[in-house]
Amino acid sequence: MMNRRTFLKAAGAASLIPLVQLPAFAADKVPLTDPAAIGLKYVEDAAQATRTDKMGVAAADQICGNCRFYIGDEPEWGPCQLFQNRLVTHGGWCAGWVPRPS
Ligand code: SF4
Repeated sequence: MMNRRTFLKAAGAASLIPLVQLPAFAADKVPLTDPAAIGLKYVEDAAQATRTDKMGVAAADQICGNCRFYIGDEPEWGPCQLFQNRLVTHGGWCAGWVPRPS
């Protein structure tokens, strides 16, 4: 049975939980020197990448912002599932680009 002191301790501990929760996504940007970024030819400006038409999408239309691995619709930086949810630029690109399902 829970007495008043035990209840207050539990309530106090529970009130701290939101203060120590981690954010849903890692906030780190993908460094261009990251081995995975190099391997996938990631660039922060898609215009600087050598792209080819892929899956019916013209090369010039391929950017992180319309890739299926880009989470959400953030207009500048957003998490990429291919890079463990680290941030990539909306206008970036890498060789892992796949169109978002419509
Ligand atoms: S997988 Fe998609 S969102 Fe992630 S870096 Fe490559 S093109 Fe951008």
